[in-house]
Amino acid sequence: MKNDITKIRMDFPILSEKIYGKPLVYFDNAATTQKPRIVIDTINEYYSKYNANIHRGVHFLSNFTTTATENARETIRKFINAGSHDEIIFTRGTTEAINLVAFSFGEAFISEGDEIIVSEMEHHSNIVPWQMLCERKKAVLKVIPFDDNGNLETEKLNNLISDRTKLISVTQVSNALGTINPVEDIIKTAHLKNIPVLIDGAQAAQHIKVDVQKLNCDFYVFSGHKIYGPTGIGVLYGKKELLNQMPPYQGGGEMISKVTFAKTTFNELPFKFEAGTPNYIDTIALAKAIEYIENTGLDKIEKYESELLEYATTKIKTLDWIKITGEAKHKSSVLSFVMDGIHPSDAGVLLDQMGIAIRTGTHCAEPVMQHFGITGTARASFAFYNTFEEVDKLIEGLKRVKQMFG
Ligand code: PLP
Repeated sequence: MKNDITKIRMDFPILSEKIYGKPLVYFDNAATTQKPRIVIDTINEYYSKYNANIHRGVHFLSNFTTTATENARETIRKFINAGSHDEIIFTRGTTEAINLVAFSFGEAFISEGDEIIVSEMEHHSNIVPWQMLCERKKAVLKVIPFDDNGNLETEKLNNLISDRTKLISVTQVSNALGTINPVEDIIKTAHLKNIPVLIDGAQAAQHIKVDVQKLNCDFYVFSGHKIYGPTGIGVLYGKKELLNQMPPYQGGGEMISKVTFAKTTFNELPFKFEAGTPNYIDTIALAKAIEYIENTGLDKIEKYESELLEYATTKIKTLDWIKITGEAKHKSSVLSFVMDGIHPSDAGVLLDQMGIAIRTGTHCAEPVMQHFGITGTARASFAFYNTFEEVDKLIEGLKRVKQMFG
């Protein structure tokens, strides 16, 4: 893969841009990834040539775009190996997908005194919707802790599970620590007690091959914009038998079967959960992003990104004034760190002047920061279009930051 990087980078127009006259070094991939030309061109092409509202037209353009949207659903079904296209629901992103489940699953299955388990390393998107549900239903939120290296203490899960546990919702990869969690084990443990599991794949699907049938998760969610696709589109996978028992999340067009003032009946899956005009053009472009990474090869991507992470980790460890936050046994492309006497955002601003984009702050994971008693970290997050030379630039940049701060 190393030999293909120059060619791969040419597929991403933004990577040739200069920031303050310096070549862009983009290490903020956990926040959002850059888009290959095929994604940008697809959006342009559909708005230029094929735009029409889907699912309800009799004319050529509507039918054309409807077919492209449903083909995109099929591409995504295959990508995560879901059993049926009815199990693929389009949302605005991971956040909306989790809110959908928290509301609809909550309405169907959660009563006063029931319990939901999340982990201490969740993104706010996988905490707050459950807190809101617990508040609404007088249910209880329990938390699986992680150790100081960032490994989830899954051995504590059995003690947290009770006969009131109704759902477990955990991230596959932590956006703040990079930890890859043993979600297969969590799912097996939960299923022994018939507890469904939601996996937040926002930081996983772009790095690790996902097979929802093999994982046997009950729900799987991810965002298009983090997997080289457009913003405003995401995916909820849910097992049919659960989705069929859950009420709609929003009411409106397309999610109905028949409407009268006396009674409304709802459409079948997946449309029951897709009220209103869907974001069809970004759906079609998301499928192009997925085809792009499949053609590149997720196994190659995973291998290359772990080499990049290992290289960056080894290099950063030579700087004795930097401490890595999160050194779990299994990690994906995230390198979070704190610096002696230098605030992460000061370092971020100075690196930006050098053309190097990293993220600083809490990464929407405040409980992770509370665990370590810190206010934030600096985070470099990698994608397969990043290079070893860019990592060297980051290290040199950090050395300059240190000099500026004396
Ligand atoms: N979950 C995780 C682990 C994330 O990293 C993020 C975003 O950073 C989200 C959920 C929320 O994703 P989105 O903002 O695309 O809905």
